[in-house]
Amino acid sequence: MYRKLKADFVFPISTAPVENGVIILNTNNEVVKIDEDKNYDDSELEIYEGFLVPGFVNAHCHLELSHLKNVAQTGTGLIDFIGQVIKNRNHSQEIIQAKIIAAENEMLQNGIVAVGDISNAVDTFEQKQKGNLHYYTFVEYFDMFQNINTLPTIEQYDAVYQQLAESETNKKSKVPHAPYSVSPKLFDYLIQNFDNNTDKTISIHNQETLSEDALFFNKSGKFVDFYKNLNYTLEPIPKHLRSIHYALEFLKPHHRNLFIHNTCTTKEDILLAQKKLGFQNTYWCTCPNANLYIENSLPNYQYFIDTKAQVCIGTDSLTSNWQLNILEEIKTILKYCSYLSFETVLNWATINGAKALGWQQKFGTLEPEKTPGIVHINHTENKSITDKSQARRIV
Ligand SMILES: [Zn+2]
Repeated sequence: MYRKLKADFVFPISTAPVENGVIILNTNNEVVKIDEDKNYDDSELEIYEGFLVPGFVNAHCHLELSHLKNVAQTGTGLIDFIGQVIKNRNHSQEIIQAKIIAAENEMLQNGIVAVGDISNAVDTFEQKQKGNLHYYTFVEYFDMFQNINTLPTIEQYDAVYQQLAESETNKKSKVPHAPYSVSPKLFDYLIQNFDNNTDKTISIHNQETLSEDALFFNKSGKFVDFYKNLNYTLEPIPKHLRSIHYALEFLKPHHRNLFIHNTCTTKEDILLAQKKLGFQNTYWCTCPNANLYIENSLPNYQYFIDTKAQVCIGTDSLTSNWQLNILEEIKTILKYCSYLSFETVLNWATINGAKALGWQQKFGTLEPEKTPGIVHINHTENKSITDKSQARRIV
């Protein structure tokens, strides 16, 4: 028995929106086809007011930090933020696990089907194995450019990495944390680790604050004090015009490369990365609410439009956001950048994220044989959303 879901607009993503569209699903929740309501009797249809769209992909999250909600103050900047998180990271396993379960459930209800999730510890692995959502886990390494840290870092995070079993719903990579925290030796280890594997995504936090570029350009800015406070030498940090230029010396075109935040990324940086890594394998994840929470700024999205960049969307963690909800990220982008259309940003939230995580055969569009999950968005207006719109997973 097929289900027939009708809405004012269906957004297949792979084709233009269909007014009075109908999604036909088989019993496995696979899309059979997209049609128009005139071909059916109303009595056969499940009717939704507003939009039906494919499940969202949250390309960047730190599920393990869910217990740190409201710990960090807003608007203090990245360096103060990191300090507040480190200071408050210790909680009981019971609380940590309860908050992970609640945060996953929040994502599920809000229409997220797949998550690119950073792990520094094993705390989320038990929940991830339940298969409620699809997770691409990025086990994140950093040695702060200190030689003495490199081997212990590798040992510590290799042990974390080994504890997550790969499955249909769980993929994993070893990844560099950010240009400002990974030495050349550690970078080489991480990238060469997957040298013969073309089905890996490498995520890296990138250009979240101007201080990051300043550290590489002339060892100035707030990161200098951050290093000095830890009694770390800045000596090994090579000179580069901007921090992404350092990362591009190591990243490879046969991996999917996922840059996170990109708040200060310039048009030249985007073009250079696309040239070095290949257009198809270069993805730019924006986390607008986290950027507002931490730095009170947003990327210049026009640069990404001008370069036809493959943008995807992340929530970041509950430590740096008020919720884990991709529709809220879309609302923020459209509120501050009304030159962008809902349709454009919906592409970022669905197919681009699915491609960045290598799950485009399953998620991201309403195409036959995919099981993308179906999300209902209400309180819509014409072909866009409103402040009141809410997203709910219905399939
Ligand atoms: Zn992050």
